[in-house]
Amino acid sequence: MMRKLRSIRVQLTLWYIVLLGLTLLIFSGYLLLQMRDNLLAGMDSNLQGAAVGALALITLEDETPFFLDELRQAPEISDLGITLRLIKSDGTEHDSLGSRETLPQWAPQEAGFATLVLNEQSWRVYSRPVQLQGETVILWLQATQSLDNLYTTLEQMQLRVIWGVPLLLILTSVGGVFLADRALRPVERIRRTAANIRIDQLARRVGDTGTGDELGQLAHTFDSMLARLQTAFEVQRRFVADASHELRTPLTVVKGHIDVGLGRERDHQEYQRILEDIRLENERLITLVNRLLFLARLDAAQISHQHEAVELNDLLSLVYEQMQPLAASKNQTMLLELGPLPTIQGNTDHLIRLFLNLLDNAVKYTPENGEIKIQGVTSGREIVITISDNGIGISPEHQHQIFTRFYRVYGEETTGTGLGLAIAAQIAQEHSTNLTVTSELGKGSQFTIRFPIPSGATMSC
Ligand code: ADP
Repeated sequence: MMRKLRSIRVQLTLWYIVLLGLTLLIFSGYLLLQMRDNLLAGMDSNLQGAAVGALALITLEDETPFFLDELRQAPEISDLGITLRLIKSDGTEHDSLGSRETLPQWAPQEAGFATLVLNEQSWRVYSRPVQLQGETVILWLQATQSLDNLYTTLEQMQLRVIWGVPLLLILTSVGGVFLADRALRPVERIRRTAANIRIDQLARRVGDTGTGDELGQLAHTFDSMLARLQTAFEVQRRFVADASHELRTPLTVVKGHIDVGLGRERDHQEYQRILEDIRLENERLITLVNRLLFLARLDAAQISHQHEAVELNDLLSLVYEQMQPLAASKNQTMLLELGPLPTIQGNTDHLIRLFLNLLDNAVKYTPENGEIKIQGVTSGREIVITISDNGIGISPEHQHQIFTRFYRVYGEETTGTGLGLAIAAQIAQEHSTNLTVTSELGKGSQFTIRFPIPSGATMSC
């Protein structure tokens, strides 16, 4: 019951009825007041008209004023139920005409209109002083009419309002339910679609509601959200499938080595060679799992994205010092050419990881005696950092794919994980920039990352 009451359809209808009811009541009240005022004004003008008309038809005989017979026969006086009286200022009556019996005796104090209530009956009285033939005695001419008819008319109107408003509300509430139902039908469609979508049915859509209104936009937004979820979910599913595949290969190799070792009795050196092979595969596994974990955390935004001030000169010098011995072990020359670079906002650990991955590749894919360069300059409003080598290079058809997770130009026969550049590209994205490559097969590769120079940045050397 409470759930039904909380439904938008019911709430909309209830609000609609309450507001409409209030509006009708206020409007009816206003109309009744206007009607009362108008009826009263009409009555007052009749009374005044009768009094003015009677003025010329009053005469004096032996100093006693009375109405002429002509007036007694005037049909408009009796038809309207008006009583006319001539009263002395002490309240005694000289003459009267109309329905006198029921009329209250009342000596007016001042000219104008008054309402009298006597024996539960109400009267409207118009009084005006009359001076006859310069007499000093002031007479009052009084025109009176019962208010009963006026009150009866108003009561009948009130009764109509009292019955009419609820009846109207009942009728309009049926209309309200119908309208709310129609307006909210697309919402129900969205709800049903959402309720029926299982994780393997992300391709389902609400579709066009055909209304082109806010609910149509809601359906459209909902569908775009589903599309984004579907893409994200598919990327995730492919990632898990690829990761499982990548993990299975070294594990199978390790199992193969163990099986060979256990197959028959071997001498000490052979066991050592097998263990060495297992260690190498194990290292590859560790690298792979670490990179997977890092990517998974990046995806889930578990790694803090809080940025701090990063001195690029210091950071690149540190990376250089870390990688230089590896290059030296392959007789490669590693050069560091940095201009003064401004401080940027970034994640130091992630940026170190990005440059280490690029340099690791440069060393890996450059033959002995090759040359690797780390360059950093400012150009316009940008800091441009390049890692270049004169190694094996990458052919154009592979260049746009190398940032894809698990992609390796030479397939699974290489020792790499295919994740180094994917991680580097994602870190670049985290810093609102892109990692790009230019390369020529057999001549070398150049990876570039550009950071916008922050306003008010200071240079370090
Ligand atoms: P991997 O662990 O295989 O190096 P990466 O994602 O780091 O994975 O690189 C993807 C592929 O891009 C590599 O397999 C390699 O073929 C190619 N590549 C990356 N860096 C270079 C480079 N400096 N020179 C030539 N090829 C490269």
